[in-house]
Amino acid sequence: MTQEAHVTQGPLTTEAGAPVADNQNSETAGVGGPVLVQDQALLEKLAHFNRERIPERVVHARGAGAYGTFTLTRDVSQWTRAAFLSEVGKQTETFLRFSTVAGNLGSADAVRDPRGFALKFYTEEGNYDLVGNNTPVFFIRDAVKFPDFIHTQKRDPYTGSQEADNVWDFWGLSPESTHQVTWLFGDRGIPATLRHMNGYGSHTYQWNNEAGEVFWVKYHFKTDQGIKNLTTDEANRLSGVDPDSHQRDLRESIERGDFPSWTVQVQIMPAADAATYRFNPFDLTKVWPHEDYPPVEIGKLELNRNPENIFAEVEQSIFSPAHFVPGIGPSPDKMLQGRLFAYGDAHRYRVGINADHLPVNRPHATEARTNSRDGHLYDGRHADSKNYEPNSFGGPAQTGRPLWRPSPVDGATGNHVTPLHAEDDDFVQAGNLYRLLSEDEQGRLIENLAQFIAKVSRDDIAERAVDNFRRADGDFGKRLEDAVQALRA
Ligand code: NDP
Repeated sequence: MTQEAHVTQGPLTTEAGAPVADNQNSETAGVGGPVLVQDQALLEKLAHFNRERIPERVVHARGAGAYGTFTLTRDVSQWTRAAFLSEVGKQTETFLRFSTVAGNLGSADAVRDPRGFALKFYTEEGNYDLVGNNTPVFFIRDAVKFPDFIHTQKRDPYTGSQEADNVWDFWGLSPESTHQVTWLFGDRGIPATLRHMNGYGSHTYQWNNEAGEVFWVKYHFKTDQGIKNLTTDEANRLSGVDPDSHQRDLRESIERGDFPSWTVQVQIMPAADAATYRFNPFDLTKVWPHEDYPPVEIGKLELNRNPENIFAEVEQSIFSPAHFVPGIGPSPDKMLQGRLFAYGDAHRYRVGINADHLPVNRPHATEARTNSRDGHLYDGRHADSKNYEPNSFGGPAQTGRPLWRPSPVDGATGNHVTPLHAEDDDFVQAGNLYRLLSEDEQGRLIENLAQFIAKVSRDDIAERAVDNFRRADGDFGKRLEDAVQALRA
């Protein structure tokens, strides 16, 4: 490049702001000599480059995000006192990060995998994070199994590849996964774009109203673009020719003003129902059938602004299901309880203790006023305010009012396995899903499953896997068994 062609906005500088004399030639001892340690502009540039990456998320590494608006369309104050849900027409800024689960940061978008649907509401009472997925259920119901489950999805530590043996060994021995696996290998397991899929809060959460009444709630985000999926063959091809297909589609649709939106629904269960409901309503491997708790439409979510920098706003965005606001709280869902710890822990490790101060993560509609100070990359925001409570210098004070209501507990501590409800089984809802599918959809589900199960090296692993689907539905099991046997013959 000639000097004339290089139109500048003033001098290039070092990180410390000093002008850089030459950004093309390192400083050397003599014309052909070695490079000098005193070339600080060079050393700083190389050192910064080496540190451009932070640890990628151990799950949900591959992601895309956008800002948007949530608009409340129904008065829900009879169920929750959350301020952002208090007035029909009220709008709240949001940030939504979509992701795949198993793939690394640079992996392809069009793969068969659940999608993360992590939503941050910047409310006037602090940020509320709903860290959902595009599926209403999950593979396991207890966080103690999560690291084992993810180890089977990721690369085997010896072979360096994902192994069908590990995947099916774990799923076969964890029958509670049958519902989610049926969902994943069906048509919705590979969405056509991030806009053409639903989102679900998946867990059960607590809502509580001004009168102190408690309700259990599940969130659904129904795509207004309609459900569209890719077949396995279409996805395999697209992953090769355009690994960034979903990320690009989202950004371009927002750029051209074609803002994707979702209709927001909730299912509401009065607190007293939980103890006597036919299955455990806090079991993440199950949905609440719509006929038991009909979805109620409460709002609209629209994405309408792209991030300006992917690393700053998508890679460094952090979400935690422990980020509640007054009127909303946790349920005894054992997966949720584990996630209340794991998300905060992950981002403190990955982004740092002051991750909450970054523009994408800090509250936008209010101010965080804590007594926490210092730590890695602290920006001195608190100036001369005191860093303890109580204090008599006008510092922030506790409110004395918990965000959520207490949940009654009884019994002894222990690693309990005892089912509490008559229908706490692992197969009924997988069967319900199978029977809800058309003949064509069932055929594709069975083909997708069979192709993968056929790759295992041991018959007992394949048989255990098929047996779980047989227990969900006899026809499902028989057709799958035939398909697997044909491929393994
Ligand atoms: P309902 O008839 O009340 O609900 C059926 C649900 O299934 C709808 O939400 C529908 O979503 C969804 N659905 C339709 N086709 C598919 C598909 N190919 N893959 C995944 N989901 C699909 O019945 P139930 O509430 O008794 O649920 C029956 C089964 O439906 C469940 O076992 C579960 O697997 C699945 N499901 C249930 C949900 C719930 O909250 N109850 C939510 C999502 C799935 P849509 O309206 O978008 O087409």
